[in-house]
Amino acid sequence: MGRCSALSSRGCTKISPGCTNCYAARFAERFRDVPRHPYEQGFDLRLVAHKLAEPLTWSKSRRVFVNSMSDLFQAGVPDDYVGDVVRSPSGQGRS
Ligand code: SF4
Repeated sequence: MGRCSALSSRGCTKISPGCTNCYAARFAERFRDVPRHPYEQGFDLRLVAHKLAEPLTWSKSRRVFVNSMSDLFQAGVPDDYVGDVVRSPSGQGRS
């Protein structure tokens, strides 16, 4: 089984001293202002709804890491969107 990340959102807001060395923020900010790059807006929060159905295009099953570059439960993510992610193919587990 392959592995991949499903990025239903990108970016986050630092909320505690534990965020000081956030690897995702450091990675994303390297690409701020790079035209058409997924992190053109750096680590600013963005919802990426068009990625939710992407697993339906895969021919083989993969282990999915949902939101490796964000925090799905941060204050800026609407509850309805969290529900969309959980109900999406990316959020559904298979046995
Ligand atoms: S992704 Fe985690 S460590 Fe990084 S800023 Fe958000 S809450 Fe902090």
